[in-house]
Amino acid sequence: MHRSLADDLSRLPELLQSARDLAARELAGLSERPVVHLDKAPDREALPTGGAGAQGALARFTERWAPGFSGSAGPRYLGFVTGGATPASVAGDWLTSAYDQNGSGEVGSWATALERETVSWLRELFGLGEAHSGAFVTGATASNTVGLAIAREWLGERLGVSVSRDGAAALGPVDVLSGSPHSSIGKALSVLGIGRDRLRSVPVLSGNREAVDVAALDSALSALDGRPAIVVANAGTVNTVDFDDLRAIAALRERHDFWLHVDAAFGGFAALSPSYADLVDGLDAADSVCVDLHKWLNVPYDAAVQFTRRRDLQVAVFHNASPYLGLPAGEPDFVHLTPENSRRLRALPAWFSLMAYGRDGHREIVERNVALAQELGERVVATDGLRLLAPVRLNVVCFTLADDPTQERVDALARAVAATGEAFVTPTVYDGTPGLRAAFSNWRTSAADVDRISGAVARAL
Ligand SMILES: *Cc1c(COP(=O)(O)O)cnc(C)c1O
Repeated sequence: MHRSLADDLSRLPELLQSARDLAARELAGLSERPVVHLDKAPDREALPTGGAGAQGALARFTERWAPGFSGSAGPRYLGFVTGGATPASVAGDWLTSAYDQNGSGEVGSWATALERETVSWLRELFGLGEAHSGAFVTGATASNTVGLAIAREWLGERLGVSVSRDGAAALGPVDVLSGSPHSSIGKALSVLGIGRDRLRSVPVLSGNREAVDVAALDSALSALDGRPAIVVANAGTVNTVDFDDLRAIAALRERHDFWLHVDAAFGGFAALSPSYADLVDGLDAADSVCVDLHKWLNVPYDAAVQFTRRRDLQVAVFHNASPYLGLPAGEPDFVHLTPENSRRLRALPAWFSLMAYGRDGHREIVERNVALAQELGERVVATDGLRLLAPVRLNVVCFTLADDPTQERVDALARAVAATGEAFVTPTVYDGTPGLRAAFSNWRTSAADVDRISGAVARAL
């Protein structure tokens, strides 16, 4: 054994204690450290030959890299939709590495049974029935890709071809219809050989909405003359958190042949609160569902879950047949369900958080975040020089400059907010107008943070 490796093995408890001390210090200071770092990263160093040992690596990391890491896990990072990591999920994440299980299948470990338990808890949390099965993946992009891969196989079933054997070309051109799809849907269609340009946008409702016009969707489906299609419904759009009417869309299946995939990456969390659960009414009717977990569940990167009613088709797409693994029979191992073969036990941080805080604890995070977004929305309305681009429907405030909101001026405002170190928001374009998004999805964010966020925006104006 290499000398440094042998040394580390003999002093493992001390090493873990040092890493723990650093993590505890960083997390204790998280609310006060600059939210983002805009300075240039250090130059690269040469590959070490002898190695510094783990304590040496920890010292080098602390000195060279840690100072430039962002406070994105903290309470005032409102860019994209960014969750933090609950205390229990951090502990679960550490233990995921310590146990280092391969979650691909039941090979002499209970790890995958724990993943199944966690998926069943999540299914219940999001109001899905027993007909949905699921698996952990790395993020909502991966979850959307898996859902659409199953949709692609379903199209094959309808047309009498096997996509998993004959390839996507066997389908001919595919129609994918959606109102306000997330950018990851185009990426998924590219990966799946369906093609980005096969995503056709359907008109949305009038009156400052991003939800699909179900009557327009009905007409678009009629125009396909019975050809089966894929509909991507959106439960929580990134700009204004609008929700498609899932129940009405699902009802269209009485007259049209389509696979219903729902991207509920963060909007799915509306199901946790009786005040907002009606926004995702009908989610259970979907054929496949995407929910991100490193956003509003507040587990560390990277984690999301995918659900589907057609596990048979999922296995047709993803099964990994080999002499030593065999073909799946009965309850399929995870190796046969997602793009990965070997995989991290990504479920463990989520299991810890759900065990630690339960449905009520996670509901409280959602409801607090929504209340704080509404509060910031009211302050935007009350601030000269700013205006809302859309009502605050859930946890995102979409706003812009009251006068002359050019891309240049809005980008400059975003940079000026970031330069305060107090808050971080991301630019967007909503309905043709450049604006900013402040997305609340961190478990730490408090009313005092909203004071600091609105203060930072006012100073940056
Ligand atoms: C964030 C998001 C995605 C992509 O999620 P990743 O975790 O970044 O892959 C997809 N859809 C929606 C609606 C999202 O908000």
